[in-house]
Amino acid sequence: MRSLKNRPTMAERRHLTDAGMVLAPGSMIGIFGGGQLGRMLALAAAPLGLKCHIYCPDPQSPAFDVAAARTIAAYDDEGALDRFAGSLDVVTYEFENIDLAAVERLAKTVPVRPGARALAVAQDRLAEKTFLQDAGIAVAPFAAVDCLAGLENAVAAIGRPAVLKTRRLGYDGKGQTPITKDTDLDGALQEVGGAASIVEGFIDFTKEVSVIAVRGADGATACYDVAENVHREHILHTSTVPAAILPETATDARRIAEHIMTTLDYVGVLGVEFFVTEVDGRESLLVNEIAPRVHNSGHWTQDACAVSQFENHIRAVAGWPLGPTGRHADAVMTNLIGAEADAWAALAADTAARLHLYGKNETRPGRKMGHVNRLSSRT
Ligand code: AMP
Repeated sequence: MRSLKNRPTMAERRHLTDAGMVLAPGSMIGIFGGGQLGRMLALAAAPLGLKCHIYCPDPQSPAFDVAAARTIAAYDDEGALDRFAGSLDVVTYEFENIDLAAVERLAKTVPVRPGARALAVAQDRLAEKTFLQDAGIAVAPFAAVDCLAGLENAVAAIGRPAVLKTRRLGYDGKGQTPITKDTDLDGALQEVGGAASIVEGFIDFTKEVSVIAVRGADGATACYDVAENVHREHILHTSTVPAAILPETATDARRIAEHIMTTLDYVGVLGVEFFVTEVDGRESLLVNEIAPRVHNSGHWTQDACAVSQFENHIRAVAGWPLGPTGRHADAVMTNLIGAEADAWAALAADTAARLHLYGKNETRPGRKMGHVNRLSSRT
């Protein structure tokens, strides 16, 4: 066994990372964002002997409860960012709307995984759709919108129904509004705050599915099985695995996710959301969006797989070999939104339910408070 005295220093550990080597146990992984995803990443790092330093402006962040170190500071606090970078061997993030300038500042002194390019693409729906299209991946028809005249032209080109979405900061249906045959376009633009946007053709999908994929620092890739997702009021309600899609559609979804990761020279877990359309029994996939991080529709992997999406993200960013992504059970993940988490006692008593609560101090409508995984025999 290596004695503590002989453990590599932080500078040596960083050098090893840069050289594509693995981070030794005891290394510190920085995570931007202190929500439930950061919490579950830190929980997954601990059994590997890896520590997490969470950076988040909110003192009540659920990830702080389970992290080795915390920084409570604004994302543009340069002094705090530099101190954070100084404590780390590698840095990652749990949400994609971080200021790129902060990430670029950190990247000068510490490896950022996934890299800034993936973040830039995923932060901006126009950049995302353009990137996907250029990579030969099918997406809904789209057009950029900067003003009312631009919106009129875009809707004339794409047709109604359509969806108007802000380019930035949209999630869980926020920052988007439908355009039907009667929609007044000026009103629609005001609905999204007049922000730079895109118009997307409305896709009459039969299902929404997603793939959680992972790419290691050595370029190895792996995917979990495809999940079928049902939303309620624009928030993910359930993810069911396996998705009821044709085997060739599932193969296509995995191939697309791997193609995206390779094109971005990606390291870490990537979530890819798809629309499935069906014509004469033939299924096709369109990518709706990509998330450069662990993803809500992958929470089932915590209980149905030997190695979860969280552990695999940690493994990837630490330069470790990826763990197996195989599924030993079928699974249904159900989010606990707002007051649904008040049923925790009954859920805890339900031996068929694996309960995950995020430790949030306040219940609010629409807030993700936890989730439940229910397993059944693998089909
Ligand atoms: P997004 O924020 O882009 O993931 O959109 C949230 C949800 O709105 C999706 O999961 C779909 O259910 C729906 N949606 C988004 N874009 C479209 C579209 N172009 N056509 C039909 N439904 C859409």
